[in-house]
Amino acid sequence: MSDNLAPADELAGFLEEHLPPWRAQWAGHPDTFAADLDWQRIMQTGNWVAPEWSVENGGRGLDVLSALACAAVLAEHHAPRTAGIFGVKNVGPTIAAYGTPEQREHLPRILRGEEIWCQGFSEPGTGSDLAGLQTRAELDGDEFVINGQKVWTSSGMRADHMELLVRTDREAPKHKGISALLIELDTPGVERRPIRQITGDSEFAEVFFTDVRVPRSSLLGPLNGGWGVTMTTLSFERSGVVAFAKDIEQEVEALVSAHSLTAGAAPLSADNRDQLVRRFVEGRTLGALGNRSLASIVATGEPGAEQSIIKLLHSMVTQKLAATRVSLGGMAALTGSDPEAELAYLGARSADIAGGTTEIMKNILAKRVLGLPSS
Ligand SMILES: Cc1cc2nc3c(=O)[nH]c(=O)nc-3n(C[C@H](O)[C@H](O)[C@H](O)COP(=O)(O)OP(=O)(O)OC[C@H]3O[C@@H](n4cnc5c(N)ncnc54)[C@H](O)[C@@H]3O)c2cc1C
Repeated sequence: MSDNLAPADELAGFLEEHLPPWRAQWAGHPDTFAADLDWQRIMQTGNWVAPEWSVENGGRGLDVLSALACAAVLAEHHAPRTAGIFGVKNVGPTIAAYGTPEQREHLPRILRGEEIWCQGFSEPGTGSDLAGLQTRAELDGDEFVINGQKVWTSSGMRADHMELLVRTDREAPKHKGISALLIELDTPGVERRPIRQITGDSEFAEVFFTDVRVPRSSLLGPLNGGWGVTMTTLSFERSGVVAFAKDIEQEVEALVSAHSLTAGAAPLSADNRDQLVRRFVEGRTLGALGNRSLASIVATGEPGAEQSIIKLLHSMVTQKLAATRVSLGGMAALTGSDPEAELAYLGARSADIAGGTTEIMKNILAKRVLGLPSS
């Protein structure tokens, strides 16, 4: 690690050294998870997976500005995603905030990709109204006994660990009877079934719990204080959109330069040219909102109202961008000639549901940001 370089410049050097051989090794390989996991391990040789984490936990202790400059460098280099993204971005920071010393031992393993984590929050009848969750855990001596079901668990088939939300007090008001547990998914009584998606992948699982026994030490944070733990995890999930804003800006710019509007480039139809210009403006708008949110984090420690606006715009632009890529590729883009564009198009449909639906984000904006009355 050099003392003279700014972290973002050091990271750029690291990527220029390690990305080309990694790309050459994994080009066209069908197992993208294995490729991403290999990349995560390479990144962690330089403590670059979560440079904002403390040095003790496997990060570099970077401040928010330096960490976001690093995220921008990753976007510029089109670096692959982290295989264990839910552990790194959401669960890990929650363990750092609430975990016992024993639970914190997970943290370096999460960064090295030795543990893959998922989030067991949503249930068949409980998504937006998360506090209504019904999966229950009852204390029996020094163990919790868990029964119930989770659904839409991202990385659910790959993960070996889960942050699980359970109801531990059925008499208390719904927000006050929830606890968070950290569990291993190979515990007897846990059954996972893949959910096949429109893309053909099975990124999600349904997870069933039948008399699953885990030690009391699995509890993360206070007993029946799981709602606060959940809000912490969700705030990490939602503040990730600041970095996503930069990713989208880069993606738009790459698309615009690939279909350059300058003389000599293949001619574009008026409609496609119009779409590219619109995406360009939207990409720049998201980038500017990301910068404003960043300024707010630096000034107040909070990402500000821009965070909810970015989440809304991000899902809208993700879907429009995917449609523009398909439009530029013509019919052929949907018949196998550009599998990446096709997958992006199909996958983008979920953008306005994941991490809180568009309607819920609008509710948050209306109530908490604009202060509008509920009825
Ligand atoms: C890509 C992706 C990844 C996901 N990963 C995970 C994961 O890892 N772990 C996990 O636990 N869950 C995950 N989910 C589930 C996700 O959190 C839920 O799908 C989401 O919260 C919506 O809940 P729901 O599906 O039950 O829909 P519902 O809450 O039933 O909503 C149905 C419709 O009603 C609308 N609606 C609901 N309440 C209101 C209201 N108060 N006002 C106005 N409109 C309302 C919604 O906007 C939506 O249009 C994931 C989902 C997606 C798409």
